[in-house]
Amino acid sequence: MEDIAGIARQIEEQLKFYREIGVADIGGSAHPSQLPASSASANRAQPEAQPPVIEPVVTRPARAQTYLSGEESMPKKKDQVEQPALFGDIFADENQEPASKKIELPVLKSQDASLEAIREEIGDCVRCKLHEHRTNIVFGEGNPEAKVVFIGEGPGADEDATGRPFVGRAGQLLDKIIAAIGLKREDVYIANVVKCRPPGNRTPERDEVATCEQFLFRQLAFIQPAIIVALGSPAFQCLLRTKETITRARGEWREWNGIKVMPTFHPAYLLRSPEKKREAWEDMKKVRDRLNSLQA
Ligand code: URA
Repeated sequence: MEDIAGIARQIEEQLKFYREIGVADIGGSAHPSQLPASSASANRAQPEAQPPVIEPVVTRPARAQTYLSGEESMPKKKDQVEQPALFGDIFADENQEPASKKIELPVLKSQDASLEAIREEIGDCVRCKLHEHRTNIVFGEGNPEAKVVFIGEGPGADEDATGRPFVGRAGQLLDKIIAAIGLKREDVYIANVVKCRPPGNRTPERDEVATCEQFLFRQLAFIQPAIIVALGSPAFQCLLRTKETITRARGEWREWNGIKVMPTFHPAYLLRSPEKKREAWEDMKKVRDRLNSLQA
């Protein structure tokens, strides 16, 4: 009897979370392999838009050198074709990256007295071309002692207008995701890889990321969260120095400077592909469980 009550509680909890993050079709749908061919293909999720491939150029602002260090060679993979990565010649993924490349993972060393000090240093930034079209710098916000930090790619129109991260439609979904793991927006910290809106919401370019990421790293160094949730490929690729996509990486814990990283889909992608919310929820349950185990 006890077991049945436990299972019922688990199902009830799962249904509640599905509703909270907006999964409308909670059950009864057939697995794509069980559907007739036409409907199975209609049901197939569209792959997430991939970031453009950008030729590698090794430039890094002098200031960033303070925060980046560490070089290791990876074992050479046979017959591997070398391709340029989004973030230049920086590789950390042993499954995909050419062995001859150097890994240059950011190393966290907090050198800032406060998040405000980092914001002050950014000032009225003109370090990259994104400043030309921005209204507001979107620094990030939340609990400076957060256990969980969510990282997006860059501000959209609503964020540019308000100066706050994730306040548009994607932000509203992010709020639901945060609530679904038992937290409030004020409990966590939310930031982006780049702090100014890329025109037309395009993916931030490599030089823009290379210029701006140092500030994200310093925010992370100051906050020292237990968990980072990387929302979408650009955030994941920036942190992990990989060209692996989120579609491939999602749901598996990674580590960055001793901090657990959960790669998952970006909320804007989930708005376009709601059938992916189930997978995002699986990822978020792992975040919730790890967080609960830390607090136990
Ligand atoms: N998308 C992002 O990646 N960041 C935001 O702040 C808003 C939308």
